[in-house]
Amino acid sequence: MTLSVLEPAAPAAEPVVTSRVSLVGRTRAGLALALAEIGVPEKERRMRVGQLWNWIYHYGVRDFSAMTTIGKGLRAALDERFTLDLPEVTAEQVSTDGTRKWLIRMASTGPRDRGAEIECVYIPEVDRGTLCVSSQVGCTLTCTFCHTGTQRLVRNLTCEEIVAQLMVARDRLGDFPNRSKPDGAFVPNDGGRFVSNIVFMGMGEPLYNFDGVRDAIDVISDNEGLSLGRRRITVSTSGVVPQIGPLGHEMGTMLAISLHAVRDELRNELVPLNKKYPIAELLEACRTYPGVSNAKRITFEYVMLKGVNDSDADARELVRLLKGIPAKINLIPFNPWPGTKYECSDWDRIERFSEIVFRAGYASPVRTPRGRDILAACGQLKSETEKLSARARLMLDQDEAAAAAAVAAE
Ligand code: SAH
Ligand code: SF4
Repeated sequence: MTLSVLEPAAPAAEPVVTSRVSLVGRTRAGLALALAEIGVPEKERRMRVGQLWNWIYHYGVRDFSAMTTIGKGLRAALDERFTLDLPEVTAEQVSTDGTRKWLIRMASTGPRDRGAEIECVYIPEVDRGTLCVSSQVGCTLTCTFCHTGTQRLVRNLTCEEIVAQLMVARDRLGDFPNRSKPDGAFVPNDGGRFVSNIVFMGMGEPLYNFDGVRDAIDVISDNEGLSLGRRRITVSTSGVVPQIGPLGHEMGTMLAISLHAVRDELRNELVPLNKKYPIAELLEACRTYPGVSNAKRITFEYVMLKGVNDSDADARELVRLLKGIPAKINLIPFNPWPGTKYECSDWDRIERFSEIVFRAGYASPVRTPRGRDILAACGQLKSETEKLSARARLMLDQDEAAAAAAVAAE
């Protein structure tokens, strides 16, 4: 497949030090704080938050001067202290199948941080557009088949940085009122939103960034703004068992489990977190997932690794294990990356596996690999952040190192 790079990655820029911070991605409470900071009286704040919310998330405006329902004085005060900037897109790649991958550089968090880079992938189909977002820079877990797991530099993304990924996607796709899509872009043609679904299947383990992900989902699903229903949001986890119940209670999204093996011995190797939370405990958490039903099934992801987890016996055991859980099984052809020891199962093996699962009464779609030519497929994401020079790494903020250590200690 050919690859078209619309915008080459910018050379490493000097960190931009700005005292103005962006309001994009903030929760209502976060916007209220901003208003308090510039002296807006408390009794007025709720109303002002509603106005800002509408302009930022419904209209996607990039400039306070466009907020015509807000008086000039307040607009100027906001502009002095804040911006409506989105994080910088340092590269946009478009696959021959229409998949888009954005490399997004988050705002610098301090004078010595040039901003973490993360990847975000847009997968358009005729009747839906799925955005695959990241919850962390890198991942502290080390699943052996996953490229992201080899990235050592890790921190949680903030709520703002998670929401910003959807804002960047909609901005780039022209999916705000009075805007239009880029020439020739492949987007759904059913008259709905260009981004209709979100999956937390990019970089990172979302349940290790519970608060950031929860706040971001609150913003994204708010009816007066981005309005993406919780049923259209899927959080994928490698199996952080204690957080699965809280995910259902506090976020109410769809759940996906990265299962990948049906015996603890093998899963310990593929998904080392299994040593802490073995298969039986994980499935018990699924059985009791709040709201789980036939209408709200849990997706089990199963990456097809040649000669490792793809036998008929594995398929039969999978079906046995999932008995009684309203489930969908998503077979993912392994996406190779440089240096991996695994290979993708042969096509007839995947079909045979799928057939066994299907005969047992489960929908078992084989996920068509999308965007492989631009390394945008599942598990291929790994940002340039890791490729910083040793010196640049040393210069990263202490804060970031502390955050990474906190995440690693979980
Ligand atoms: N950390 C979370 C979410 C991000 S990973 C999780 O593990 O669920 C998103 C999905 O991509 C997971 O199911 C993961 O197992 C899968 N994946 C990782 N590497 C892959 C690869 N090389 N090929 C195919 N799928 C992969
Ligand atoms: Fe992390 Fe998920 Fe990759 Fe495992 S599969 S290393 S949990 S991103």
